[in-house]
Amino acid sequence: MLVTNHVLSGALIGHVAPGPATAFGAGVLSHLVLDAVPHWGGRGPIRELMHIAVPDGLVGATTMAVVTAATPSRRRARVLAGMAGAAFLDLDKPSTVFFGFSPFPGAVDALHGRVQRESPGRMPQEVLVAVAGALAVAAVTRRRRQSG
Ligand SMILES: [Zn+2]
Repeated sequence: MLVTNHVLSGALIGHVAPGPATAFGAGVLSHLVLDAVPHWGGRGPIRELMHIAVPDGLVGATTMAVVTAATPSRRRARVLAGMAGAAFLDLDKPSTVFFGFSPFPGAVDALHGRVQRESPGRMPQEVLVAVAGALAVAAVTRRRRQSG
């Protein structure tokens, strides 16, 4: 699943979480749940998917920055924590590309790999999820800003 979609779901989790620690933990859990839902994914090593992984990583990071800046200060920490938790498990990809290894214990990587339900033909679904997620995050953020 695109990391951008994990980030957007993490923002929504952050808005309903009671605090940053809960938001981070729920974000990590959401990553595994969403990776178990049928989604886009390529077969083969990450180096063969760089044409999608790099733009997705940049959009995901930009999304985190924009959502953090737009979120009212009283909710900012938990929303940022939700996004960070939701994206956390995908740190294995840039770490593998740049350093040659995953930062996580083997059992974590094995679980992350085992839950995947990927298909290379599901990119249109990923784009629809991203658009719906962005609209939902924008609506929740707007509502939170208006409620003072
Ligand atoms: Zn993942």
